Amino acid sequence: MSDIDVLSVTNPPPYLLEKLNAAFRMHQRLHETDPAAFEQVAPKIRAIAASGESKVSAELIARLPALQVISVMGVGYDGIDVAAAKARGVKVTHTPDVLNDDVADLAIALMLAVARQVVRSDRFVRAGDWPQGPLALGRKVSGGRIGIVGMGRIGQAIARRAAAFGMQIAYTARSAKPELPLTYYPSAATLAAQSDFLVVITPGGAATRKLIDADVLNALGKDGYLINVARGSVVDQSALVAALQAGTIAGAGLDVFEAEPEVPKELREMENVVLTSHIGSATTQTRRAMADLTFDNLEAHFAGKPLLTPVPECR
Ligand code: NAP
Repeated sequence: MSDIDVLSVTNPPPYLLEKLNAAFRMHQRLHETDPAAFEQVAPKIRAIAASGESKVSAELIARLPALQVISVMGVGYDGIDVAAAKARGVKVTHTPDVLNDDVADLAIALMLAVARQVVRSDRFVRAGDWPQGPLALGRKVSGGRIGIVGMGRIGQAIARRAAAFGMQIAYTARSAKPELPLTYYPSAATLAAQSDFLVVITPGGAATRKLIDADVLNALGKDGYLINVARGSVVDQSALVAALQAGTIAGAGLDVFEAEPEVPKELREMENVVLTSHIGSATTQTRRAMADLTFDNLEAHFAGKPLLTPVPECR
């Protein structure tokens, strides 16, 4: 495979880069760093290596006439123009399942951190404020009502964890899952009205843009918490800031933002918000498994074998 040209549109982690460099002729973000050199190489590029946050536009795909496969290291692929890829017969792969545990763990961590004031109390102790009196009381999580927006691979992993906390679990998705012993609501707003914690874990992209809007936040109410581990685009961020400022909801735990890595100053200054830097799958163990799957999909493709994990549109 060493004569196969692969364009990386991201900076792969060292472990993956090493594997890619050993197997393929790699061109690291050449389209951005050296457009003239890219012009020379573009007709030979047969694969793209991307991350879950990468953008692969119809325009870029059109400039790569020999492109056959796009391998995404991540389960979300909303930055890839899959319709344009499909129209050209280009396959797209991603890395589902191997990150379910980590993302579900983080959703629970954010819920506990914001409701039990873990981060706020840490700041309180470090600032030397404890001797002046105790922190205000937090909110109990165990036994509470969790509403999960998106009941796919990761949503189900979150539900399993919530069950261990004795929570009442309900969800919304595009369709009900009668096989799951959980309550289904047909919309995010009706689910939010019955939830203490609303956890968002749908894909990003046009279909879910601002799914969590001012109406949903109103329905969640002044004692409710929003947890977003999906994509920043799924939540109307201005409406969220307004709801937090007005006390329309009680707090939020956020791993993803509208214009990452930029996070609005208003959110950064709020005490009832816990912020993480899109670290849902960011453990050594999971990132290694994701890297292996990203590589194995490319290897399978060029060995003429079936792809391991094509995105649903390419199955
Ligand atoms: P999945 O198995 O495809 O599940 C997606 C769920 O979202 C499904 O239940 C689906 O409904 C539901 N859904 C899709 N469109 C919807 C809509 N318009 N309204 C309501 N529900 C909708 O995906 P997954 O593996 O669980 O991953 C979910 C997403 O998590 C990824 O796409 C990615 O964006 C995000 N993610 C974030 C991180 C992070 O670092 N924070 C890491 C990994 C993944 P149906 O079941 O009815 O089809």
